Amino acid sequence: MGLIMILGPMKSGKSFEMISRFIHLKYTALPYGLFQSSRNVRNENVWSRNGLSLEAIKVDNLDASLRRNYRIVGVDEIHMFAEEEVKTVEELLNRGTDVIVSGLDSDYRGRMFPIIRGLLELGPTEVHYKKAVCEICKSPDAIYTQIFSGEQPVVEGLPPVVPDDGGYVYKSVCRKCFVRKLDRIR
Ligand SMILES: [Zn+2]
Repeated sequence: MGLIMILGPMKSGKSFEMISRFIHLKYTALPYGLFQSSRNVRNENVWSRNGLSLEAIKVDNLDASLRRNYRIVGVDEIHMFAEEEVKTVEELLNRGTDVIVSGLDSDYRGRMFPIIRGLLELGPTEVHYKKAVCEICKSPDAIYTQIFSGEQPVVEGLPPVVPDDGGYVYKSVCRKCFVRKLDRIR
């Protein structure tokens, strides 16, 4: 199986897909671990919006995934982890552990998270790009997560992973509705 990546904006069904890939493992003898960043203050478990949930271990980094001989390791909200964790995932893959990750592919500026780029460079077996409904024009093609302060989209000045403490509103938006800083130079 190798590395499977489930990517997309908020509300695109990533957690649902993650849960559907792990829920049956509870009834098998396969050792598996499902991890989530301790920076995620919203959820205790991996929750999908239709009410399914699965227990996840909250961690600051992925070291714990190496401590046991897991057959399968899942990481929810992988974008909340530091880029260095790419090395841990590589180590897991080298050991023959299958790894399934889900998360946002790009930040509020529309830039790919370094950890996502690093994982893509490992050569995943499957990459699933999920879409959400655009919360501005209602098209089914939302690929970005825009952050709003009141009615205004925030296009710069925030850390790449923005604490979800209620100060900002997150919306899934399509390419046409996404607002980015005009003088963007790569
Ligand atoms: Zn739109």
